[in-house]
Amino acid sequence: MVLGAGDSVSRRAKALLRPLARRVGLAAPEGAWWELGRRPWVRPRAFRRQPAVCNICHWSGPQFARPYHTEMADCPLCGSIARDRFLLHCFLSRVEYRRGLRVLETSPRMGAGYRELMRRFFDYTASDFDLSAHVGDIRIDLQDIALPSASVDILLTPHVLEHVPDTRRALREIHRVLSEGGRMYLQVPLCYGKTHVPTTPEFHADNTPVFFNFGWDLTEQLEAEGFTVAALVTPQWFDMLNGTIPPARSNGDGFHVEEMLADSRPSFLVKAASNEEAEKYGFQPGYQFVTFECVKR
Ligand SMILES: [Zn+2]
Repeated sequence: MVLGAGDSVSRRAKALLRPLARRVGLAAPEGAWWELGRRPWVRPRAFRRQPAVCNICHWSGPQFARPYHTEMADCPLCGSIARDRFLLHCFLSRVEYRRGLRVLETSPRMGAGYRELMRRFFDYTASDFDLSAHVGDIRIDLQDIALPSASVDILLTPHVLEHVPDTRRALREIHRVLSEGGRMYLQVPLCYGKTHVPTTPEFHADNTPVFFNFGWDLTEQLEAEGFTVAALVTPQWFDMLNGTIPPARSNGDGFHVEEMLADSRPSFLVKAASNEEAEKYGFQPGYQFVTFECVKR
């Protein structure tokens, strides 16, 4: 704010009061969304007032930009899709915030604004395998991570593990680079009951092949490599998997719900959001959301 000699008294007074007005919510905020000081682990102020709310940038409004789906329901301000919001919600609602937490995220889908936000609050690094589809700070092959042991407190890894040929080798490397009690928040497309290798070549948007379509048995693979595992799910999915509400039926959206119900691991399931959070943040339909929380033993 720069005030010149020619400014009228009322204009100068308004300019001086604007920061205070913003603080108490009487004036629109200014600047890029990631600079607004909104801490993503705090519930957005508009949570009660609006039907759609972004837990990352704190945008709120009548609805998200595309229909409800884990790969859609885009936030019009930061561009997050529903699974981005679920991943961050899982991490920030389960880990007590502390400054200097070393967070590594493999191939984040979101761009510069999100990374700026994360850097404001964490010792944050984004990585990518080949730096082609996503632009990372460093290049990392999960099967051979070029980082010292115990150098990462939190690993966020959304939709990468299915593109890695040797799951076991990757999990061992992840275990090595995590600090004592460090955690991985892992998302893979979980659309089947049991893990299988795709019968026809499968690619996602970034042209890297899919080696595995994971199922619930991934839980045992994670446990076997030295992690204590919780499958974090929406309240709706938790209740369906525990048989306390009627199950959804497969509807052609790619999720084989009947198989997923038959093969689930109820003892690993943890409700990671309230009904209201799932509704407002767009974690719908509930069966499309799972984040594996893997704590290094
Ligand atoms: Zn947003």
